[in-house]
Amino acid sequence: MCTLEGKVALVTGASRGIGAAIAKRFAALGAAVVVNYHSNEDAARRVVSEIENAGGRAVAMQADVSKLDEATRLVKATRKEFGRLDILVNNAGTTRDNVIMLMKEADWDLVIDTNLKSAWNCSKAAARIMMKQRNGRIINITSVAGIAGNPGQSNYSASKAGMIGLTKSLAKEIGPRNITVNAIAPGFVPTDLTNELIEQIRDTIIEHTPLKRLATTDDVAALAAFLASDEAGFITGQVIAVDGGMVI
Ligand code: NAP
Repeated sequence: MCTLEGKVALVTGASRGIGAAIAKRFAALGAAVVVNYHSNEDAARRVVSEIENAGGRAVAMQADVSKLDEATRLVKATRKEFGRLDILVNNAGTTRDNVIMLMKEADWDLVIDTNLKSAWNCSKAAARIMMKQRNGRIINITSVAGIAGNPGQSNYSASKAGMIGLTKSLAKEIGPRNITVNAIAPGFVPTDLTNELIEQIRDTIIEHTPLKRLATTDDVAALAAFLASDEAGFITGQVIAVDGGMVI
């Protein structure tokens, strides 16, 4: 099994859902973890308590990562807290679904800023540290919607497709400093973000999934842990779907 002993990780949007599962998995494998949240402080503190109760190290840190100054402050605070930064997971995300005729400009901007600009913001600040360390891992949580598109999600799909371009460009740009950049594209994972949608189309999703079930947050966390580990040191610029084969 892979280990993250001695590593420091920052997981954005780790108060709930997929980010919380990644933070807990990283801590269980030995990493010190910053659990970033936007507004849900209680949930973030619960994740930290769970990690500490299991013998791990974590702190909760508030920041709106869609804002460059806040993302930069978060990355600097991570290094101040734990002395270095080895792993950044750009996981924070949101949806504002609608057909294009009815989608408000504000909902386009919010989703692009929260999902895509945030990843650029945090990567920009983290790359500065990782390039000096000559070591690092950046993992972007994209989506099958960024690969295949989804009606009613023009903003979300565009943000997630943008993350794939960001992943590949950064992989080429900072690979020579021994920093890997990869993307994980989950299928439908029941979380606060998707519960309502999944309840409406659960049977259709399962029908189109060769492995005949929904994804779990742990399915995603397991791949994130591997990509963050030393064993994955020669994998970069890749987009790996965790979707039971849905978008083959
Ligand atoms: P979730 O349960 O709704 O959690 C979203 C997380 O993002 C929360 O921790 C939230 O913080 C944080 N967040 C939102 N805006 C933020 C901001 N501006 N700054 C900092 N943190 C912010 O969502 P999820 O389903 O776990 O999704 C996590 C990621 O996986 C997203 O990028 C999503 O697009 C992607 N994904 C999800 C699925 C799925 O089916 N669930 C599928 C593919 C991809 P607060 O708690 O403070 O609000």
